[in-house]
Amino acid sequence: MSEKMLKFVNLEMQMPRKRVHSVRTKDFKEIYDQFINEKAKEQSSRCSQCGVPFCQIHCPLHNNIPDWLKLTAEGRLQEAHELAHSTNNMPEICGSICPQDRLCEGNCVIEKAGHGTVTIGSVEKYIADTAWKKGWIKPIKVLKEINQSVGIVGAGPSGLACAEELRKLRYKITIYDRHDRPGGLLIYGIPNFKLEKYTVERRTNLLPGSDLKNIFPAMEFLTASNRKGLGDKVKNFDNGILNAKNKDVIIIGGGDTAMDCVRTAVRQNAKSVKCLYRRDRENMPGSAREVYNAEEEGVEFTWLSNPIKFIGKSQISSVLIEKMKLVTADSSGRKKPEPILNSEFEMKVDMLIKALGFNPEDLPKLFDSLELSVSKWGTIKINLKTMETNLPGVFAAGDIVRGASLVVWAIRDGRDAAVSIQKYLEKRMSKREKAA
Ligand code: SF4
Ligand code: SF4
Repeated sequence: MSEKMLKFVNLEMQMPRKRVHSVRTKDFKEIYDQFINEKAKEQSSRCSQCGVPFCQIHCPLHNNIPDWLKLTAEGRLQEAHELAHSTNNMPEICGSICPQDRLCEGNCVIEKAGHGTVTIGSVEKYIADTAWKKGWIKPIKVLKEINQSVGIVGAGPSGLACAEELRKLRYKITIYDRHDRPGGLLIYGIPNFKLEKYTVERRTNLLPGSDLKNIFPAMEFLTASNRKGLGDKVKNFDNGILNAKNKDVIIIGGGDTAMDCVRTAVRQNAKSVKCLYRRDRENMPGSAREVYNAEEEGVEFTWLSNPIKFIGKSQISSVLIEKMKLVTADSSGRKKPEPILNSEFEMKVDMLIKALGFNPEDLPKLFDSLELSVSKWGTIKINLKTMETNLPGVFAAGDIVRGASLVVWAIRDGRDAAVSIQKYLEKRMSKREKAA
């Protein structure tokens, strides 16, 4: 093994510098600075090059982490970039927004041994950002296209990853999206967590008072804010409706989307920002790092709290909340919340945001294909091996199948779908050739 590695014994874990909260809450820029070259090299060299790299096993893309860390430590960044891009279509995005503390870094062997994880996400981002800067990332050049075309509906991470993989295989690709910019949630929202939250959303949608004004789904709030950031005119933001400025804001939910909402509200200069979650800190689905950042920025968390009624005349003015306790773990391994009798209390609110999960549209109707098979949650049913729907030649991947999940899983699904689509097209082509 290279003598440049295994430095975790003497070298402390260091994240890229985090901007102080009083400064970073004044803008919407990333809160972490870039690694400088020496730091990226140094932090990569802490890796112990495990024979069984648990970091890689727990990365949904099975990124070859130990190898690109070693290449970075040795200063061989172009090779590190090629390796990182061979399994991940968007390494800089995953390096920034994956909940690493629950995936690669949370399972790093030296983290488990108490030395502090190798900062895998930051190094991955550094490698890809360097590749962009140096011009190593180029559009795919196809010398001779295959005379078969694939239409991809949705320019989110899954669609884009699938498109890229199929383009590399020389197919003609057209991507369709109902929005004016590609990127899906990456551009107008932020990825959410876990299918189980549908159940929560369904339940809270039945809450009395859900039709009061100033209650918004997370995506509406985030989309408005992101559009403003892109320089768009957004009527409902410009007239103050979707702007948290000077308001007492409550966000309901415990995933990363909820964290995105609370931290957005802080940056919009809300009077106060509170987050209600029905479990406790240890049992929330979102990244612990995100909660820590939000707390630093002044967000108040009210754990073990469940809203049971929205109160107000025409618009919401307060929320009735019941306190919860945690009992035995459910099938997901997390403890189940149960209400505590006579524990209700009221909390004042001007703007309420529900970050509880993904509520799929009526997909068969949307696609004008009433025979399209969907699950009881409204997501598309697929053959899990081939990713094909019940409509021959139609494949599906990403949140539309899983429900709200991580960007990194969407990329993985998009790549898997590309492999299946290729097999399908090759079969079709050989049938056509035989018939000719
Ligand atoms: Fe970690 Fe996500 Fe990168 Fe995988 S893609 S190595 S989980 S940051
Ligand atoms: Fe390196 Fe940690 Fe992965 Fe082991 S688990 S190969 S120490 S990053």
